[in-house]
Amino acid sequence: MRSRRGAFAVRYYRQPKQGVLHMRAATFAVGVPYSIKTTALKINSGEPRIQARQLPSNVARVLRGLHRAGYRACVVGGGVRDLLLNLKPKDFDIVTDARPEQVKKLFRRVLLIGRRFRLAHVMFGREYIEVATFRGTGEEASDPKGLVVRGNNGRILRDNRFGSLEEDVLRRDFTINALYWDYAEGRIIDHVGGLKDIAARRLRLIGEPRLRYEEDPVRMLRGARFAAKLGCKLDARCSKPIPEMARLLRAEPTARLLEEVRKLFLAGHAVASFEQLRRFGLLDELFPFLGPWMESEPKAGEFVHDALAATDRRLSEGSHASLMFLLCVFYWGPTSRAVAAGGSKSPRYRQITEAFRGIVKDSKYGLRPTKRMMADMEDVLARQALLEAQPRRRVNQTLKHPLFRPAYRLLCLRRRLGEIDEQCVLYWQKRAGLAPSRSWSKRRRVKSGRGGKRNSHGNEKTVR
Ligand code: ATP
Ligand code: MG
Repeated sequence: MRSRRGAFAVRYYRQPKQGVLHMRAATFAVGVPYSIKTTALKINSGEPRIQARQLPSNVARVLRGLHRAGYRACVVGGGVRDLLLNLKPKDFDIVTDARPEQVKKLFRRVLLIGRRFRLAHVMFGREYIEVATFRGTGEEASDPKGLVVRGNNGRILRDNRFGSLEEDVLRRDFTINALYWDYAEGRIIDHVGGLKDIAARRLRLIGEPRLRYEEDPVRMLRGARFAAKLGCKLDARCSKPIPEMARLLRAEPTARLLEEVRKLFLAGHAVASFEQLRRFGLLDELFPFLGPWMESEPKAGEFVHDALAATDRRLSEGSHASLMFLLCVFYWGPTSRAVAAGGSKSPRYRQITEAFRGIVKDSKYGLRPTKRMMADMEDVLARQALLEAQPRRRVNQTLKHPLFRPAYRLLCLRRRLGEIDEQCVLYWQKRAGLAPSRSWSKRRRVKSGRGGKRNSHGNEKTVR
C-alpha cells in the first residue's frame, strides 16, 4: 500500500509538465488534441481519481481550449459522479469562469442558449458539449440587473448571476453532483463532502432540504431518480419532507416534468424508479389516476412491473423504448375500468377513446402528455378493441400500421390482467410472423428521424 501511495505522489509531482509537453506534441502530430488523455492527474494518497483518458475527446478539447485561454475549466456533475461510481456517464458538463460570450469567441461553433440558465453549447458536428459559467449566490436585493428572478413560493425562474466555483457549488442539488474535476490541477475538488457520500452511497442535498425543494421542486424527482439509478439512499432529512412537498410539482411546466420522467423511465432503471416514486408519494403527483386503480386491482402491480421490466430489458439489449408506450400501460387500467363502468352502447374503440380522454380531462394535476403523445396513446389504447376482435379482413393494413407494435405489446401485457387469452396473442403472432419469444423486442434501435442536437454521449438533451 505504501509503495503505491509513493508512486502516486511521484506521478503527481512529475507529470503535469510531461502532460503539457505530450499534449502539444500530440496536437501537432495528428491535429486532434486527444492529448489530454495523457495529462497527469493529481492524486493524493487515498483520494479517488479520474483519469483524463476517461473523458471523451471533445470534452477534452473544450477543457483544453478554455485552459489555454487562461480560464478555469472543470468537469462537474453526473460525469464526475458516474466515473467515480464506475458507471458510464450519460454526458459531461463543463463549468468555467469564462462568460458565455467569452466561450463563444474560443471555439468555432458555439450556440448560446437558455433563458433560465444561459449556457454555451460548443458544437462538434451534431454533438455538443455544454459549458456553463460558475453561478453566484447572494441576495436578490443586491441584484439590480434582475439576473436572478424568483417566483411565488421561492421558485427560481431565472438565474444568470455569475460567480466563483465556491459559490457555484452551493447552487447544485446533491453533494454527489457537486464534485468538480479541475483540468489544470487534475484533481477533484469537493467542498461539500460529496466524495464521502459517494463512498457511502448516500444522497444528501446541499443546504436546507425544504428550501432547496421550494426553489426547485423537480429536485424531488431527481432524488428519486438518483436513488434508483445509483442505488443510493436518500438521507432522512431529504426524504422526510417529500411526501408533503410533492404537490409543489403541480406548478412545474409540463415540458420539464416530461423531460425528468423520460430520464426516470428510459434510462434502464424504470422498475427501480417507479418504486422510488411510489415510496415518496411522487407517483400520485405525476399519475394521480394510477394509485387508486393499482390498489383495487390485484394483478395491477404485476402488469405495471412487467411493462417496466420489459422497458429496462429492451434498453439493455439496445432496442427502442418509448415513454408513450409506458403511459399507455399506466392509463390502460383506469381507462378500461371507466369503459366497464360506462355501459355505453357505442363501438368499443370509441368507448375506450372517450374514457381515456375523460381521464386526462378530469385530472386536475399530474403529467400531461403532449398533443402528439395523446394522439398516439389514443390510437394504441383504442386499437386494443381491434386486436381483441381478431378480424379476418384488412389484416395486412393492421399489421402495417406504425402503432401496431406498441398496441400488440400492450395486448400481450394484458394477459397478466386476465383480459386476453393466449389464443388471441397467438393469432397476431402468427399473422405478423412474430416469433413466440421476445424476438420483436430485440429489434435494433430505429434511428429517429428527428434532427435534435446530441450531447457528448449521443443522447438528445433539452435545456432546463
Ligand atoms: P444525469 O446526466 O445522469 O441525468 P446529472 O447529475 O449530470 O445526471 P444533469 O441534469 O445533467 O444531471 O445536470 C448536471 C448537473 O447540474 C447536476 O449534476 C447538478 O450539479 C446540476 N443540476 C442539475 N439540475 C439541477 C437542479 N434542478 N438543481 C440544482 N442543480 C442541478
Ligand atoms: Mg448530466
